[in-house]
Amino acid sequence: MPIYEYYCEHCDGIFEALRPMREASDPVPCPICDRDGQRIMPTEFTAFTMRDGYPRRIPDKGTYWHLGKEVKQPIRGPVRPNEHPELNPPRPKPKPTKAELEEQREREEMMKKEAKHGLVTRRRLN
Ligand SMILES: [Zn+2]
Repeated sequence: MPIYEYYCEHCDGIFEALRPMREASDPVPCPICDRDGQRIMPTEFTAFTMRDGYPRRIPDKGTYWHLGKEVKQPIRGPVRPNEHPELNPPRPKPKPTKAELEEQREREEMMKKEAKHGLVTRRRLN
């Protein structure tokens, strides 16, 4: 089934739906509010303009769109791919530093040695 785009007036949002071609023009319930969304015809894409490399809806409200969601600011600086800081708040960084990794490796090495040593000692005592 082909994928079509629909517009929900209530949410002012666009969503996609897989429909059989003969039902493509029928309204599709919005995944957010369950109201009928109307199909956006390919010819209606003229209702969008490109500014700053972002598609903007006309009339331009001065907002930006990120993956179909409205945001106030365009993405600035390095971000995770396909994520927007307004929609995906930054998570705490779990990635350890190189020094921390090395420290952990050393600790593990030491524990391994100790385990081995302990084993040997026990064996000798037997
Ligand atoms: Zn809706």
